[in-house]
Order: sequence, then structure tokens, then C-alpha cells
Amino acid sequence: MWYVKKMNDTCPKCGSTLSEITETQTGKKLRRCSAGSWNKETRQNEGCDYVLWLEVAPQTLDEKCPKCGEALVLQTTRFGKKMKKCSTGGWDKDKKVATGCDFIEWINGTTETLDKDCPECGEKLVLFTTSAGKKMEKCSTSGWDRDNKRPTGCTFVRWLKPGEIPPGVNASSEGEEFLPPEPN
Ligand SMILES: [Zn+2]
Ligand SMILES: [Zn+2]
Ligand SMILES: [Zn+2]
Repeated sequence: MWYVKKMNDTCPKCGSTLSEITETQTGKKLRRCSAGSWNKETRQNEGCDYVLWLEVAPQTLDEKCPKCGEALVLQTTRFGKKMKKCSTGGWDKDKKVATGCDFIEWINGTTETLDKDCPECGEKLVLFTTSAGKKMEKCSTSGWDRDNKRPTGCTFVRWLKPGEIPPGVNASSEGEEFLPPEPN
């Protein structure tokens, strides 16, 4: 279901091939020219400095918009959050107004803070809900180091049973991403 569109593979500056897509900490995707590289020590580009920033392209879903019946697309925001939106929806940059259908549904890959301490390190736990709707408690200090591809911080995780509401969660305190905008 996930795929990356085949892009133009050649550097417009030097004609070398572009390297594989890499993702920044904020979830933006880019491709560097293979004739260039990022030197972590000097924090400078070496060689060709061409970088192709990729639009996080919306992916057409096999689902219809409940408002207008057009196809829905899956879009990832700048902050890595995912939403389904109507493919007819858009943004008029000149007039700064939304165009087309405004249907949006956030996908619930969210975290919310729990009033509960980590049994391992005493920091607060967070409740994480995957986009598949599974919930887990994990330590708020945990993270993911994308460069080194390893977890950081405390590794405490406890998966919740389906339907289990962990103590400390107010059933109405859903993350804002759960909530589609109120219909007018
Ligand atoms: Zn190049
Ligand atoms: Zn629509
Ligand atoms: Zn912890």
C-alpha cells in the first residue's frame, strides 16, 4: 500500500544520479546528489550540493469522501501527522482560501500525556495510539534516533489490551488529531 513514486533520478546540476530518499527528523523527505555528501563533522556539504526536497505526495485511497463522493487521499503533514482528506480539497495560495471540498479526517497515530509515572525511570508515561488503533503506554523520555536507527531514552512499553482504558486517561481527552473539524 505504501510506495514511493519513481522520481526523476538525475541531478540537474551535475548529471549524477540522485541517492536514495532520506528522511529528516521532522519527517521531510529529500534526495541528495550522489556526487555530494554531508560531512557531519564540518557540517558542510562536500561535492555537489544539490538537494531535491520531496513533496510528501498525497496517496489516493480506495475510499470515497463522505461529503462529496470523490476519492480520498492520504496526506502527511510537515510534522509527520497523517490525515485523510478529500482529493478535491485544495488551497488557493493567492487568495489564501481553501478550495473544493473541506473533508478532513485525522488518522489517530497520536500520543497523549498520562498522569502516571514510568515504573522504570519515574518520568511520566504517554499513551500512544497507532494508526491501526492499538494503544500502548510508553515512557515520555523514549524516542527514536533516525540517524543511528536506534531507540533513545527509556524503553518502557506496555501494550494495552483491546478496549482497555489505562488509569489516568480521561475518556474524553482525546488528542486533537482524533477530531475532525466540526461540520458547519
Ligand atoms: Zn549533482
Ligand atoms: Zn469531498
Ligand atoms: Zn521511563
